Amino acid sequence: MTILHQSPIFGPVKSRRLGISLGINLMPGDGKWCSFDCVYCECGLNKDHRPSKPLPTVEEIEYKLRERLEAMKECGEDLNTLTFSGNGEPTMHPKFSEIVDNVLSLRSKYFPMAKVTVLSNSTQIHRKEVFDALMRVDNAVMKLDTVSEEYIRLVDQPTGHYNIKSIIENLARMNGNAVVQTMFMKGNVKDNDGNLVSVDNCKDEYIEPYIDALKRINPRQVMIYTLDREWPTEGLEKADHETMDTIAEKIRKAGFDTSVSY
Ligand code: SF4
Repeated sequence: MTILHQSPIFGPVKSRRLGISLGINLMPGDGKWCSFDCVYCECGLNKDHRPSKPLPTVEEIEYKLRERLEAMKECGEDLNTLTFSGNGEPTMHPKFSEIVDNVLSLRSKYFPMAKVTVLSNSTQIHRKEVFDALMRVDNAVMKLDTVSEEYIRLVDQPTGHYNIKSIIENLARMNGNAVVQTMFMKGNVKDNDGNLVSVDNCKDEYIEPYIDALKRINPRQVMIYTLDREWPTEGLEKADHETMDTIAEKIRKAGFDTSVSY
C-alpha cells in the first residue's frame, strides 16, 4: 500500500518531527513526481504512480491555502508548521519560489507563530531561485541519506544527474541554515541484475564519512529517522531503537543538535 496526498493542501496531520502540520503538496493528487525514486518512498515507486493531472497553479494553491487557514483560524485550531511535502519533490515545481513567498505571507497573516518548512531531497539546490527560496523559509529540511554515491544510486535512485560533492557544497553554502534529514535502515534489495544487496547505512563505514560531511555542511539541526508506515520495496527493515540511539549519540558528539524518530 502507498500513501498519496490530496493536492494542493492536505491535513493538518500530526507529524513525528514537526508537530501539527498543514501539508502543501505542489504535485498533482493522483500520482507522484520526484527527482528521486527512493525504494522506501511512502508514495510508492515513480513508475507505478505517474500522475495524469497537471501541477497545481500558483493561484490555485494560494486560494486553497487561504481558504483552509481562514477556516482553521475561525475554529481556533492550532498549527505549528506549514509544510511543503506530499507527492514528490516540491522544489521541482517551476513556480516554487513564487509559491514560497505567497505561503510566507499567508502564514504571517493567519498564523504568525507557525513555521514554514520545506521537506526537500536537495537535488534542485544548485538552481539559484530554489536556493534563495530555501533560504527564506524557517526550516529547509534537506535530505542526505549517506555520502556514498553507490548507495544513493541503489536506494534513492536519482532520475537525473547527481553529484554528491556538489550537493554537500551547496548545503554548506546555506551557512548553517540547513536542517539535514537522514533515513537510516537495514535489510537488502535486489539490484538491476537480481542480486541481493545490503541497504544497511547504519554501519561505521557509512556513519564516519557522513559525519565528516555534516562538519562541512554545519547544519542547524540533524533529523534522523527510520522506516515508518508503508514502503513499496521488499526486503527493507527498520533500524532498531538501539542502533538509532547509537547513531544519534555519534552525531551529537560531533556537535550537532539531533532528533531521532523511530
Ligand atoms: S525524495 Fe521523498 S518523495 Fe521523492 S522518492 Fe524519495 S521519499 Fe519519495
